[in-house]
Amino acid sequence: MPELPEVETIARGLDRAVTGKTVARVRVSLPKVAIAPASERFERALAGETIAAVGRRGKYVVFNLASARRLAVHLRMTGRLIVRQAGYAEPVPYTHVAIAFTDGSGLDFADVRQFGRMRLLAENDPWDADGGIEPLSEGFTSEAFVSMLDGRRTPIKSFLLDQTRIAGVGNIYACEALWEAGIRPSRPSHKISKPARRRLHGAVRSVLQRAIEARGTSVDDYVDAEGLKGGFQNQLAVYGRLGEPCPRCASAIVRTVIGQRGTWWCRTCQK
Ligand SMILES: [Zn+2]
Repeated sequence: MPELPEVETIARGLDRAVTGKTVARVRVSLPKVAIAPASERFERALAGETIAAVGRRGKYVVFNLASARRLAVHLRMTGRLIVRQAGYAEPVPYTHVAIAFTDGSGLDFADVRQFGRMRLLAENDPWDADGGIEPLSEGFTSEAFVSMLDGRRTPIKSFLLDQTRIAGVGNIYACEALWEAGIRPSRPSHKISKPARRRLHGAVRSVLQRAIEARGTSVDDYVDAEGLKGGFQNQLAVYGRLGEPCPRCASAIVRTVIGQRGTWWCRTCQK
């Protein structure tokens, strides 16, 4: 599933590709993926809209529309947003929503597994993804993170994945940040020392920033809005590296399950 760096990369690509374009018509071929405000039909509601900017909130791509409405897209497992240049009439396979722009280009939402969703939000809709703080925002200070863990008994890895606390961190970057900070993923959050919490805060920000610079991690079928793979899979220390040597101490990486999610870590240097 795309996480913050992948969604950020996709959103930046889309911002370059479709900002300023006006929707001519929309075709929805799988109704459950395209959700409109009550009493509106998605296709009709989106027609005529101009895209003012494309950004990201948590793991959502957010199209800001000229009418002040927003289109929030969650790609889930296999969703893709693909820009179709003018002249390419055929949508890509598994396209459930095809948006045609007035200049002849288009944007397809394709999703093999059909878990992704596009939700059109009314102008005054208070939607804010799942509410967690953006980890690369100014508000996510070291001290804020230190106090977020007070009284939290959940394993630290599960805490990092909770989108109501921190937005956008998923399995890959939780594993990588915990390795970088030298913290065992199953540790109860409140039992982590303050210096270790500060190390983890820095590691979360650092790993996300480096992954954005590398244009995301392609371990499954992630590609960005231009169809390009990311590069951070070549920099992963632990994620998906069962049995391979830890880059810090050369011990074999192990895999356990925490909160039903596969978790890769080093028994020697994560305490
Ligand atoms: Zn190690």
